[in-house]
Formats: sequence, structure tokens, C-alpha cells
Amino acid sequence: MTAQVIVVGAGPVGLFMAASLARLGVGVRIIDQAAAPSDKSKALVIWPRTLEQLDIHGAVDPFLTEGLKITDVHLMAQRRSLARASLGQLPGAYPFALFLPQSDTERLLSADLLRLGVTVERSVELRSFEPAPTHVTAVLGHADGSTETVRADWLLGCDGAHSAVRHGLSLPFDGETLTSDWVLADLMLDGPAAAEVLISWTPDGVLALFPMGRGRFRVIADVPESQGEVTLDEVQRLLEGRGPGGLTGRDPIWLARFKINERKVARYRVGRVFLAGDAAHIHSPAGGQGMNTGLQDAANLAWKLALVCRGKAGEGILDSYSPERSAIGDLVLRNAGRMTRVALFRARWLQLVRNGIVRVAARLPAFRRRLVGDLSELDLYYPDSPLNGPSIGRWAAPAPGDRAPDCPLVGASMRKTRLFEKLRAGRFVLLSGETAPALPETLAKLVETARFAAGTEVYRPEVLYLIRPDGYVAMTAPADQPDAATAYLSVLLA
Ligand SMILES: Cc1cc2nc3c(=O)[nH]c(=O)nc-3n(C[C@H](O)[C@H](O)[C@H](O)COP(=O)(O)OP(=O)(O)OC[C@H]3O[C@@H](n4cnc5c(N)ncnc54)[C@H](O)[C@@H]3O)c2cc1C
Repeated sequence: MTAQVIVVGAGPVGLFMAASLARLGVGVRIIDQAAAPSDKSKALVIWPRTLEQLDIHGAVDPFLTEGLKITDVHLMAQRRSLARASLGQLPGAYPFALFLPQSDTERLLSADLLRLGVTVERSVELRSFEPAPTHVTAVLGHADGSTETVRADWLLGCDGAHSAVRHGLSLPFDGETLTSDWVLADLMLDGPAAAEVLISWTPDGVLALFPMGRGRFRVIADVPESQGEVTLDEVQRLLEGRGPGGLTGRDPIWLARFKINERKVARYRVGRVFLAGDAAHIHSPAGGQGMNTGLQDAANLAWKLALVCRGKAGEGILDSYSPERSAIGDLVLRNAGRMTRVALFRARWLQLVRNGIVRVAARLPAFRRRLVGDLSELDLYYPDSPLNGPSIGRWAAPAPGDRAPDCPLVGASMRKTRLFEKLRAGRFVLLSGETAPALPETLAKLVETARFAAGTEVYRPEVLYLIRPDGYVAMTAPADQPDAATAYLSVLLA
């Protein structure tokens, strides 16, 4: 049997990758070696930029219905408040972190995939694969012991930290395992626990509390050494020693120990084989960026691969995936690593200096903006992308490589529409404040023209913005020079 694309791994990244490809008309098979989805709550936070990607894909509503919206992050040191940051002022439709256990995220992504006509093939393991210039041959193992040899145009490794695809490519997973040991507990908390992310620095170590809804919280803390099973008593001692006071834990649903790995591949693509998600990068849970970064890998690759699979773009467009996402992976890894190391300072003088600097910095609006901008991933963009076209200048920002904010559009019909809805079709959108320029017929099927509504603050009427299907700016030009967009698109699209 031949598939255009085989996605290996039905974790959150594989599910979103397969759904994004299916939405854009690509024939996709998705396999997972596990007989059933994981019931673990692992990644709890969905950040605003990921919500925007789910919106562009057309699947954000069930997440908003089920998730818990949290805006406040509170940092304490020795039980005294050190700093507060709020996501409430973030731009866009999602000025909050959405808390939802990863098992629920996977359930909603699976339902979306099914809606698009694709079922996860479970108990099917990728055993080996052989890349060739025109295709990839993969050997799949089934639960009954049989094997199947399949041929696909492309193979996508979304198979997690121990990725068989990464091993098959012999790609080094460079980085380190931190020496610190950590405890995780998802449990009910009685007492004055607020609906906020609380990070508490103490001389003994760090403790973080994340709300999960209905009185349940996640507790994460570093511990001096890893010994046996985690017990409720151990968690209670950590809460009493490092928490805000007055909290009692009960009814744990998940107790675990873990170590932090910080690793990444240098290349996300080798010929017809790609890596995304934990297969390509793993980091400290500080900042909760792992799953989010992986979902955004999927959003980045899917539209490019769909254009190639449909014969609408040359394979050169795929060369942008690795530089764009690898640069983001480096940045996320660096930020999460820094946050972890700063939290783990042991020397008393270092703790005092750290607390003093943060107390002062937290009063600066620019510092708070930077912190929530990075966390929300709204400020992560592609300044050095090979896909960035001509720019009219940063005064007309968003500039090439920047996130393209959503905005209301003026349409011929009575129905109000938005930029993100337009992008759902997988086409570029040529956005202007004036009457939309005419495009040559050859491009008309791949590019939509749209007018943003008057009064839209982010876009300027004297500028033409070409927006990529994943919601980043491809190029800008003066409003009266649509030929610049035509020239750019003619090179990119076959
Ligand atoms: C305690 C904890 C807390 C976390 N908190 C956060 C957070 O708050 N925010 C955040 O963004 N991230 C967080 N993360 C990270 C997040 O869980 C991962 O980044 C996420 O699961 C990665 O998704 P993935 O789809 O890339 O890989 P996985 O979820 O690992 O999925 C890979 C899938 O591939 C399958 N597979 C593997 N090998 C094969 C094979 N050979 N053939 C077929 N199938 C195969 C596996 O069965 C699995 O289903 C946390 C992680 C942990 C452990």
C-alpha cells in the first residue's frame, strides 16, 4: 500500500501533524506502537500561539470549552511575593494560558483527526525504514507479529524522545541530562491555593504549583536525591517547607520522579524524512514549552508539505522547515534551561542576588512584556527564514518572519470573517487596506486576496502584507506595488 505521508507517533504532535495534512488534502497514515492513548496528564499548558495555530486549523473551540483559562503567574521567594506577571494584556484573542491535561489534548486532537477522516492505526510499530531519492520504504510491525512493508513519499518522525526515526537517521541528540532530581504530583489541594501559576524559590529548592481545575493542582519540586516511589507524605513535606503555607494534599492521581533532559538535533530534515516534537527537541518542563513547540513544528511543516504533495510548490520550500524550527528549538531550550538553573541556585549569596535582580526587573514593564511574550510564544518568529521575501521596513511591522495577528476582514458577503479563517484553506493571503489587487490566474488558486477592516490597528493601509498559511508574514510591499507579491509567489509556487 502506498501513502503520500506516514506519520510515526500519535502523541499530540503526530495527531496535529496528521490532521493539518488531512485538512489540506494530503493522503496520510498515522501509526502508533501503543495499543491505547496515554492517560498521563504530562503537558498541562497550551500557550496563546498554539491556540492561534489551533484556531487557524479550525479546531480551537473544544479546547476553549474544556480548558481552564489562567492569566496570572506569581513568583515567591522565602514565602514573600517577589514578582507577578499577567498574560491578560497579551495581544490577540487568547490572552491566557489554557490548562488542560495532555491526555485530554490528545483526545480532542484525535477527535479532530477522525472528523477529517483519518484513524490512528494502533499497535503498529515502525521497525525500520530505507530512504531513497524518490520515496521512503518503511517496515511496520503489527500486534499479531506480522510485518508490512510500505512505500511513502514522505516519512514524519513524531515518535517522541526515543524516536526510532531519529535513530534510523543516526542523528546525534546533543545535550545533557541535568543532575537534579524532581518530583511531580497531580493531586487535590485543600487550603488557600489560588488559580494562578505559583513558583516558590526557597533556600532548599523550588516548588511550582499549577492549577488543573476543580481543586486539583500539579506540584513540581526538585529534591536532593531520587529515592523509591514518591509518597503523599513526601509531597506534603515539600508543600509545607516551600509552599505559600496552609496547603494539604490528598487523593493523588499521578506521583512520579523525573530528570530533566535538554537535547536537540541540529537538522530536522534529512531528504524525505522529517522530525518534529520531542523526537527533535526535549527540554526542562520549566516554562511548559515542550508540547507547544512540537505542535508549532507541525503547523510549520504541514502547509509546506501539502503544497509539495499537491504539486503546487517545488521541494525547495521544505528546506525552510529545519532552519525556522531549529532556531526556535534553540531559543526555547536556552530559555527553559536558564529558568531551571536560576531556580536551582544553591549558594545563599547567589539566591540573594537573583532575588534582588528579579524584584527590580519585575517592576519594569519591558521585562514583564518580554517574559510573557516568550512564554506565550507570541514573540517567537522567523527573522532569518529563507522564506522571508522583500520588506518595506520595520516601520510597517509586522515584517517578514513576524507573527501575523488575526484581524477582521471586509468581505463581499454579509458574514464577518477573519484572517485566521481565511488561512484555514492552506492558501497564502494577500492582505491590504484598499481594494484587493488582482493576481494572475496561475496564482489565484493558491493565494487569496483580502481587505482588512478599517481601524485594524496592526496593519497599515499603505502596505501590502503577504501572509503565509501558518500565520507568519512572508513579505511586505507598498500597497500600489502588487507585482512584488506576484514575483515572490511565482518563484515559490510551481
Ligand atoms: C511531567 C511532564 C510535564 C510536562 N509539562 C509540559 C507542559 O506543561 N507544556 C508542554 O508544552 N510540554 C510539557 N511536557 C512535555 C510534553 O509532554 C512533550 O513535549 C509531548 O508529549 C511531546 O509530544 P510528541 O507528540 O512529540 O511525543 P510523545 O507524546 O512522546 O508521542 C510519541 C508517540 O510516538 C509513539 N512511538 C514511539 N516510537 C514509535 C515507533 N517506533 N512506532 C510507532 N509509534 C511510536 C509513542 O507510543 C507515542 O505515542 C511535559 C512532559 C512531562 C514528562
